[in-house]
Amino acid sequence: MKSCGPCTLCCTVLEIPALSKPACQACVHVRAGTGCGIYEARPEPCRTFTCGWLATEALGEAWRPDVAGFLIRDERDQGHLCIDVDPERPAAWRRAPYLTQIRAWSAMVRDQSGCVLVYEGPAVTVVFPEGDIALGPIGPAPRLQIGYQGKGERQRPLVRLLSTTGEVLQQWRDVVP
Ligand code: SF4
Ligand code: SF4
Repeated sequence: MKSCGPCTLCCTVLEIPALSKPACQACVHVRAGTGCGIYEARPEPCRTFTCGWLATEALGEAWRPDVAGFLIRDERDQGHLCIDVDPERPAAWRRAPYLTQIRAWSAMVRDQSGCVLVYEGPAVTVVFPEGDIALGPIGPAPRLQIGYQGKGERQRPLVRLLSTTGEVLQQWRDVVP
């Protein structure tokens, strides 16, 4: 069975409202190499969080978050796969062998009406099998409509940001391969 070992990346990248800890900022309780300084008293989100690497036996050491420079999070309720990047290594997920696998996951979750979202703090990039669309900072819990426009060879990725009432606030079509 896997263990976190020296990794503490979730203690930096995740937002923990119970501690007033913003995303992409190291928790004041994290101790380098040893983990949580308030382990017995850590709040509920810290007790229950398990990253994708820890939960997936098939992902090797290269995918351990402190090695890879990002962690994988499974948003099962929305069908999305989320990647939270280490703010000190924001482009690490684009390196081999990660990007090829992330694009393959994108094709897989797309077939289940999901997508891959890469979070660098508040800035979001949507990863399609064909390329990426950088949305920039779009606020917490964005309501996104992600899919394709057109048919056959004219089919192109499309992302829409929706209001709570379903109105289109902004849309993006330009994919960077
Ligand atoms: S990111 Fe994953 S491996 Fe690293 S400390 Fe958190 S749960 Fe453990
Ligand atoms: S309280 Fe502990 S487990 Fe939770 S984010 Fe801080 S250091 Fe990590």
